[in-house]
Amino acid sequence: MSRPLRVAIVGAGPAGIYAADALLKSEVAAEPGVSVDLFERMPAPFGLIRYGVAPDHPRIKGIITALHQVLDKPQIRLFGNVDYPNDITLDDLRAFYDAVVFSTGATADRALPVPGVDLDGSYGAADFVSWYDGHPDVPRTWPLTADKVAVLGVGNVALDVARVLAKTADELLPTEIPANVYDGLKLNQAKEIHVFGRRGPAQAKFSPMELRELDHSPSIEVIVDPEDIDYDEGSIATRRGNKQADMVAKTLENWAIRDVGDRPHKLFLHFFESPVEILGEDGKVVGLRTERTALDGTGNVKGTGEFKDWDLGAVYRAVGYLSDALPKLPWDEATGTVPDEGGRVIENGEHLQSTYVTGWIRRGPIGLIGHTKGDANETVSNLLDDHANGRLHTPSSPAPEAVEAFLAERQVRYTTWDGWYRLDSAEKALGEPQGRERVKIVEREDMLRASGA
Ligand SMILES: Cc1cc2nc3c(=O)[nH]c(=O)nc-3n(C[C@H](O)[C@H](O)[C@H](O)COP(=O)(O)OP(=O)(O)OC[C@H]3O[C@@H](n4cnc5c(N)ncnc54)[C@H](O)[C@@H]3O)c2cc1C
Repeated sequence: MSRPLRVAIVGAGPAGIYAADALLKSEVAAEPGVSVDLFERMPAPFGLIRYGVAPDHPRIKGIITALHQVLDKPQIRLFGNVDYPNDITLDDLRAFYDAVVFSTGATADRALPVPGVDLDGSYGAADFVSWYDGHPDVPRTWPLTADKVAVLGVGNVALDVARVLAKTADELLPTEIPANVYDGLKLNQAKEIHVFGRRGPAQAKFSPMELRELDHSPSIEVIVDPEDIDYDEGSIATRRGNKQADMVAKTLENWAIRDVGDRPHKLFLHFFESPVEILGEDGKVVGLRTERTALDGTGNVKGTGEFKDWDLGAVYRAVGYLSDALPKLPWDEATGTVPDEGGRVIENGEHLQSTYVTGWIRRGPIGLIGHTKGDANETVSNLLDDHANGRLHTPSSPAPEAVEAFLAERQVRYTTWDGWYRLDSAEKALGEPQGRERVKIVEREDMLRASGA
């Protein structure tokens, strides 16, 4: 093949950008060359780094700098505000590209099957995260009227949600939170935040550093009940075999034995409490019923039949994210992922020719940004192997201009990488008068205008 290899990547989150990077670092990139087009439904790239990671984690947002350098490469184009399949279908992509990689991540909340989950005041963490991160497609207000709040789940998303609920609006002001989020947080009445886990300290899924950061806020008093520190043989084995789990358990132990201080917002980390019902009155959340659990020797827990009702005004369910099935691709309902082998999409036991997946849509919604890099490398290595062995299909219109003409003809208002620079400057300019690094622009129309779409 004398022309460059043409690859479409759908989803410009970390996995998609790392996949583009891997393609450009490959031998094929030198000769005959690789050209990559990223299609992203948001007007801006970066996926959950922009619309998931909490605003008070600027250190992690530094990863954007590395991803920036990838997107700066001339062989990569970004087509933002382009939705698969509404704006471009699989057949369209096949007409333009030798291969298509899907890296569409995860956006929604996993269901929690307990009664009362639909009550007013029972919220999915993903919805709250989308609000405070200024996602373009969600309402701009959030009811923060409850003074006692539950967060269900013991992973990093639960920590983010609990921390944002427990911090003051002014603590979050130096971050990039949009004006409507600052105004909303100013009205936040939460004084007690109760985080609940079914299992024990050794089974918590927090990252040690994220957990310790909870204690750095001058407005948050983190409280752990000494009764909740318990280990069985399975837990001890987990601690021995997993350094992170051991560090988390040690931090929790230290917090359990110290005196409770007087910081204004109390954040309780409860273990061995399994939520069994969200309690309501007149359609609104008024509490949570939990069942006390106990370790069974293996690190798992069983119910003790001892129930407790907690008086609470809102419940946030942070029990995991969920990916959306992608039209025209096979789907595994059980795992909520596209079935694959080494990143090759598998349908009826066969590789769906020239079609690949990477990131959370492939592995499920677990793991940090850095984990998507190895995943992208594996997918790309198999794609290149298929290319080297003549297993890719041949597109009918491989010329790069054909895609632009197609989108223009469809009247899709797409953004570009240059457009991101314009949006970036506009957000920085918004922050400057307040001495802030940036303030996010949230409305889709405003983002498109700032990007010059
Ligand atoms: C609340 C939260 C906080 C987190 N905090 C951290 C943290 O602090 N540190 C850390 O390392 N990791 C964190 N993570 C994990 C990290 O965000 C993920 O590991 C990573 O974003 C997964 O990358 P991805 O590219 O697979 O998916 P995503 O980041 O979800 O990117 C997928 C992209 O595809 C786009 N897309 C989806 N569907 C379509 C479609 N149909 N057409 C076109 N485009 C589409 C999406 O808009 C998105 O831009 C957090 C995750 C969550 C949920």
